Amino acid sequence: MDSRSAAHVLSQIGALVELQGGNRFKARAYESAAKAILGLDTDDLGHLNRSGELEKVSGIGPATLSVIRDLIETGESRYFDQLRQATPEGLLEMLRVPGLGIGRIHVIREGLGIQTLEELEEAARDGRLARLPRFGPKTAEKILKGIAFLRETVALSLYPQAAEEAQRLLAGIRRHPEIIRAEIAGSVRRRREIIGDIDIVAACRAAPAEVAASFTRSPGVRRATSTGEASVTIRYVDGTCLDLHCVLPEEFPIAWWRATGSATHVDDVRAHAAARGLAVSGDSLTELTGGAIAIENEEGFFSALGLAFIPPELREGAREVEAATRGAIPSLVEYADIQGVLHCHSRYSDGTTGIAELAAAAQARGWSYLGISDHSESAFYAGGMKREAVAEQHDEIDRINATLTGFRVLKGIEADILADGRIDYDEQTLDRFDYVIGSIHSRFSMDGTQMTDRVLAALDDPHLSILGHPTGRLLLSREPYAIDIDAVIEKAGDRGVAIELNADPHRLDLDWRLCPAAKRNGVMIEIGPDAHSPRGLDYVAIGIGIARKGWLEAGDVLNTLSADDVLAHAARRRAR
Ligand SMILES: [Zn+2]
Ligand SMILES: [Zn+2]
Repeated sequence: MDSRSAAHVLSQIGALVELQGGNRFKARAYESAAKAILGLDTDDLGHLNRSGELEKVSGIGPATLSVIRDLIETGESRYFDQLRQATPEGLLEMLRVPGLGIGRIHVIREGLGIQTLEELEEAARDGRLARLPRFGPKTAEKILKGIAFLRETVALSLYPQAAEEAQRLLAGIRRHPEIIRAEIAGSVRRRREIIGDIDIVAACRAAPAEVAASFTRSPGVRRATSTGEASVTIRYVDGTCLDLHCVLPEEFPIAWWRATGSATHVDDVRAHAAARGLAVSGDSLTELTGGAIAIENEEGFFSALGLAFIPPELREGAREVEAATRGAIPSLVEYADIQGVLHCHSRYSDGTTGIAELAAAAQARGWSYLGISDHSESAFYAGGMKREAVAEQHDEIDRINATLTGFRVLKGIEADILADGRIDYDEQTLDRFDYVIGSIHSRFSMDGTQMTDRVLAALDDPHLSILGHPTGRLLLSREPYAIDIDAVIEKAGDRGVAIELNADPHRLDLDWRLCPAAKRNGVMIEIGPDAHSPRGLDYVAIGIGIARKGWLEAGDVLNTLSADDVLAHAARRRAR
């Protein structure tokens, strides 16, 4: 549980307590705990808890502490769940309307007995809301706008949650007797890091509009709007939003391409078609004279337009159509190209598992090496390793390696880049590692010049082989720190330091939009799961999707190399 999510739950609890007419002081306690958590200069609540520091944080009391511990240990809060269950859903929705605070919700409930968003909208339109004490027409107008805004904005989620949800919806859609084939489209298929709604395209035996309508009547639907003859947008009670496009089988290939997007890509392809005397109209391809061209599948669609097949990940309207015209679409890196991973935490710092177990998990995934990179000494909040622990860990790795065949555990470290740009530990200690990942875990709030100088200085240290999660962003919760990333990429290329594409779905840092610049500068990209348990190793698959979005080929990715070649990469840096 990261601090941002924990703070969000705490402040939600505060709001719910107050909404239910509970004690103001109690509600405030949750608000201040949320603030205290947000003010911490670390994301590692687990360690703060284990080291006993969490309970000493000012602003956290016994009740809020027990909620935070629930969150750390289980990822959920029973108290929050109870409160949510006891609160009418309409009230929860009202709380999300911009401009509608708890005080006003109380007045609305007491004055008008309103329980749902629909009732509230009605009261705002017919003037009842404006007549409430201290409301007036302007406030009523603002609330109407707030409701409209809420209806438009769809809850955003990270890729893995959205992909999982998409698979669930897809399975249900495929069970429909009239559906021959259904596939995921949209931003999930393009493997975006943040997903708004889920797009699915379905080929129907007959009457696509009827099939689409049948899904709007299924359980769990809160609202459904038709967005075309046989396309519907369905909003489920839990906030999930599905765009379902039902088509006839012969329309499927182009419908699938169109629903996959992106909008810019679709426009670019249309313009390309027009230049060749063809038109993509609806879900078919026609000559300008009106004759339709039969299309078997997506490959056939692209080739009818004189284009090489464009993998969905590249369909972002960058330069893919132009590249496809020249037959210059790269052969993108694949999961099977990965030979091992280099960013992984064991129990020596803040991981949950021992090295032998992690090695077995990596071996089971078909890899031939696993680099252990626990936190360094200065990362005290994450249980960073003291020098004696390093020696102990290396002895353990030697013992484990002696028992393994065709697999090797490497001695890495994720060393803190200190405030002045030095890499944690002294030279002798750094020399003991096979490779060094340098990362920033503190003092995020430096200004752009200071932060850039700090990282540029770190790149001068010949021990540094990989720059870890280079912008420090946490998707949907923390902005990247201020840094001149172009200067960093350029210098990394010059010094022969690899840059990480951290595959933790919260990070996905380096951003795929910057991968082409890294490639141009000759920077190798390391796809690091930043695993803290065996399951975390599977983040590599998510990182591969992002690397593909960044136009990377196997040869651009450090951990498609053998263990020997990875070690040679680090040795070359040290020799310079
Ligand atoms: Zn890190
Ligand atoms: Zn890490």
